[in-house]
Amino acid sequence: MQNYIKKLEDLKSTKSFRFLKNINEKNGKYISVDGKKMLNLSSNDYLNVGSDKNLVLEFWDRYKNSPELLFSSASARLLTGNSICYKKLEQNFSSLYNKQSLLFSTGYQCNQGVVSTLFSKDDCIFSDKLNHASIVSGLKLTNAKHYRYKHLDYDSLEELLKKNRKNYKNAIIISESVFSMDGDIADIKKLVELKKKYNCLLMIDEAHAFGVFSDNLQGISAQEGLLEEIDIITLTLGKALGSFGAICLANNTIIDYLINFASSFIFTTAIPSINVLWSNFLLEEKFDLLKERKEKLNSLFQQVHKIYTSPSCSQIIPVVLGDSKKTLDYAQNLQKEGFYALAINPPTVPVGTSRLRISLTSEIELREIEELFKGL
Ligand code: PLP
Repeated sequence: MQNYIKKLEDLKSTKSFRFLKNINEKNGKYISVDGKKMLNLSSNDYLNVGSDKNLVLEFWDRYKNSPELLFSSASARLLTGNSICYKKLEQNFSSLYNKQSLLFSTGYQCNQGVVSTLFSKDDCIFSDKLNHASIVSGLKLTNAKHYRYKHLDYDSLEELLKKNRKNYKNAIIISESVFSMDGDIADIKKLVELKKKYNCLLMIDEAHAFGVFSDNLQGISAQEGLLEEIDIITLTLGKALGSFGAICLANNTIIDYLINFASSFIFTTAIPSINVLWSNFLLEEKFDLLKERKEKLNSLFQQVHKIYTSPSCSQIIPVVLGDSKKTLDYAQNLQKEGFYALAINPPTVPVGTSRLRISLTSEIELREIEELFKGL
């Protein structure tokens, strides 16, 4: 126990100790914490649908008598944790991306499963250094060799490819499209060029881009017109879709391989059907509303980029303050003024880059962000 206590004390001394907050309610763009209602600038519900009480009531009226509606699946998908609505959700994604699709319980399990299952000891993986923890977890579990290239530095990636690709049988390049802590965006065109030049597969995690970019909400790969070139796309339903679960998109063989060999797919309880029905409801009956809100969000973050310069090209705006204590103080002061923008400290981000991670959502107005920056 002593070593645990010491490590926790160390975290407290550097203001990096994590704890759970007392959230009373989330309603649209607002959040109530410890009884105080604030503008929620720390949500991934980018289109404000997950906490839209009117939509929830409409869904409930429509589906409360559905024979499939349950709050538990009580089994893995390969056993009895499956029903028609799960297949329907996969079909919805297959049509949207023109690829086969597979529903996982979470984005974490999806990325971890894909990265750890598809490659063996004769293969190698090239991964952006700032890829999400779920991808890093897959790298730790795989028997394949892996190289982590400098964030968004495609010269550094090409050097690694030039030197090492020839020593392995299969290879894959992995990148997020919109990065979760800086809101900066991968150059998908360049990644496709390198994948072709060095005979690799390419995997893109569209977690923060799905619902926010491209005419049909598919993300950055589609916006660049490069969907067909991407071998594996992963995305979570827990962000812009305001739901739960995650989707992997790939060809038939990869999807069948994951169904048969990915432990994080096979040995876990499927998500409850209520979440699956909710995702289908949003995709099938509220797609136009999602698109409208996506347009509003795009227009908001483009205007915010004009008043605040950062590496971001998206709805995620990092305000890097450097020091953890200073960042926490800023976050607390903002809360007093009615803005809930949480501090992000190491180890989530590199030491010395503590920041407020401002996450814009579609119903927020520009004047509210102008107020926020006045406060800052
Ligand atoms: N990929 C990225 C880039 C993320 O930011 C997240 C965040 O949660 C995930 C994957 C994991 O998704 P989920 O929350 O559904 O586990």
